[in-house]
Order: sequence, then structure tokens, then C-alpha cells
Amino acid sequence: MNVGIYIQVPFCQTKCTYCNFHTGVVAREKYAPYAAAVRREIVELVARDEISSLRDATVDTVYFGGGTPSLLEPSALAGILGALRRNWGLAGSAGQDPESAREVTSAALPEITLEADPETITPEKARAWIAAGFNRISLGLQSFADRELQAAGRMHRRADIFAAARILREAGFRNISMDLIAGLAQQTRESWEESVARLLEIRPEHISIYLLEIDEGSRLGKESLAGGSRYSAEAIPTDDAMAESYESACARLADAGYEHYEISNWGLPGFRSRHNLKYWRREPYIGLGAGAHSFDGARRWSNVHDSAKYVASIESGASPREVIEPVTAAQALDEELFLGLRQLEGIDLARVEKKYGVSLQARIAGLRQQGLLEMNGANLRLAPAHLTVSNEVFVELLG
Ligand code: SF4
Repeated sequence: MNVGIYIQVPFCQTKCTYCNFHTGVVAREKYAPYAAAVRREIVELVARDEISSLRDATVDTVYFGGGTPSLLEPSALAGILGALRRNWGLAGSAGQDPESAREVTSAALPEITLEADPETITPEKARAWIAAGFNRISLGLQSFADRELQAAGRMHRRADIFAAARILREAGFRNISMDLIAGLAQQTRESWEESVARLLEIRPEHISIYLLEIDEGSRLGKESLAGGSRYSAEAIPTDDAMAESYESACARLADAGYEHYEISNWGLPGFRSRHNLKYWRREPYIGLGAGAHSFDGARRWSNVHDSAKYVASIESGASPREVIEPVTAAQALDEELFLGLRQLEGIDLARVEKKYGVSLQARIAGLRQQGLLEMNGANLRLAPAHLTVSNEVFVELLG
């Protein structure tokens, strides 16, 4: 059995206006104790009985997310990977050799991803990441328009993106993912088309495109819901404009040879995110660090969100786990639907029905009649023309 490891680094240089994640801006002195706590959590996790079902699993993907993990010193990141290798072992032996970054499509090698912000990247750091064993970088670009980046409270600018891409290529990275957000404040149809064009010029191996989320969890969301104008909230594109941006990007990425494999994700052939596929396929993963989530196939649990409390709990020898929940059969079936259907290929309906001993025909009939779900051979999938309303489809499907 294989397992993915997620390492949460919940620190950022500033808080982006649209961000609804549990991340914070803390003094740099907090980074090293946090990395030490994650190393210790790895050691203690392996010693615990609770994950005995995964004790012999092979770690085939590691994903450092956040937050901005690239803020940590490369030696701190390497220390965490080293602790994983010593205590759990990684499939194959990526690392130490820049050539390994060029062979990431080989299933024998683990996929080891680092999320990074463009302005945090230097040639020295990029080389150190390669030497530590990272073979995939996920860069949060969000936009190539300085006006949008500024309104979003991002630290980088358009020029930093080109510099970061050059540095990463020169260091030897052959698997780079880049993100854009459709619907940022100040975004226009022209500025969106320009961002997509520049992205395709760089031609990263993997692309994620997200729609801006407006909710109470971010400063921008709160301002927009209250009808205010701080953070350029009045300049957020309409839902229709956002959907148009997404759809035009779908067409351009397809023309450029990218495979659209999940609602928000595209890859060149052979470059789908192996780690993120585990989430949609309900395969096991272990999350380490503050607020990280885990799933062992039967239970889900999460660590305490607050990074100071997380460090204190690890240092005192206590478990940082906050919530441990068994997944009931009904919940597992719901997960199969709303996670599995995020993948454009859909889910094997007969397999799911057999696994859970249910018929889903009545549940999906209305959505099929409306053309929102469709059969593609043996697979049930979201209708490709209606991906922008996937959340509404999931609400109705699970309701
Ligand atoms: S860099 Fe990412 S995690 Fe950090 S504040 Fe911005 S959006 Fe949130």
C-alpha cells in the first residue's frame, strides 16, 4: 500500500486579502522550532499504534503546503525530509542528484512537492531544494497583472514570476505547477487573457485555476459581502465573468496540450499531481504540522490549528491531534461522490454501487435529466459544459 505525506507550513509574509486559510504572519524566529516540532511529530507518529494500518505503507508522495513553505530555510525543509527518510522511508531514492528532478514521471520515484511564492525563490534556494530531494515546485502566481497582485495583497509582481521560472528551470526542475485565480479584484477580460497567455508561454508541466471564493473567511470576502470597497472589493468581476474566464482558459489550455483531469487542475501528459489525486481517490494520506488533516482509509483526523499550540503540544510530548472521526459507510459514499466527481473522468458507477451495496439511480436521476451529470461509458461524470456549477451539483447530490 502507498501513502502520501502532507506537511503543513502555516506561515506567510503577509496575509493576502482573499485568503481563507488558517495561516499567519509570525516572527521568523518561530520557523525553526516549528520545523523541529514537525520532525518530532514524524518520529512519534511512527512509534504510535494508531496508524498501525499504514505502518508498512510506502511513502510515494510528499507535499509541503501552506502557507508559504518556501519561507523556511532549505536546511529546515531538508531536515524534515531527512526525518521522513530515516523513520518511514520513501519510495525510490529521489534527492541528492539533480537528475532525479528530471525523472519525476517514473512511478518508482516519490513525487516531492514544495509550494513556493515567486518572490521567495533564489538560485541558492532552488539548488538546495533539488539537493534535498524536491522534484516538483508548485508556484502560487495568481495573476500576471501587477494591479491585481497589489489589490490581492501579494508580495510578488509580474517580473518576479518570470525570474522564478528561469531560476527553477536553471536549477533543474522539470515538474513545475503554477496557479492562477479567476475573479481577482481588478481583473478584466483582457488582463485574464494576458495572464493565461503568459502562463502558456512559460509552459509549466501543471496548471491549477481556481475561482475566487467570496466568504466570511477572508478580508476581501467580508468586505464584498458587506458591500464595501476596501481591497478593491467593488472591482471583483461578476460570477458570469468569472465563469467566462474559466471556460476560456479551459479551451486555451486544451489547445495547448494540457489534459483537464480535475475541476481546477490540468497537466501535460504524465504530469498530473500524484499527491492530490490521492485526495480525490480516497487513498490514505498523513498530514503533519498545525491544522494538517489525515485519512487512513477508515478514519479522518486533524491536528490543532494554532501553530503555537501545535509546537507546545509536541514539545510537551502530547498528541497534537484534535479531532478523530471514524468515517461511516454513508459518509464514505458521499465522499466517493463529491471527491470522485471532481475528476473529469468521473467515477465507475457500478463499482461504487457494488462497494456500498446501494443503487444510486434515484439519487442521480434529476441531475442527469438537467444535463448536469452524464454517463460516459461506465463512468458517471460532471457534464463538461457545467463544471463552473459543480458546487451546486454536489449540494443537490448530497442533500
Ligand atoms: S500566500 Fe497563500 S496561504 Fe499565504 S496568505 Fe496568501 S493565499 Fe493565504
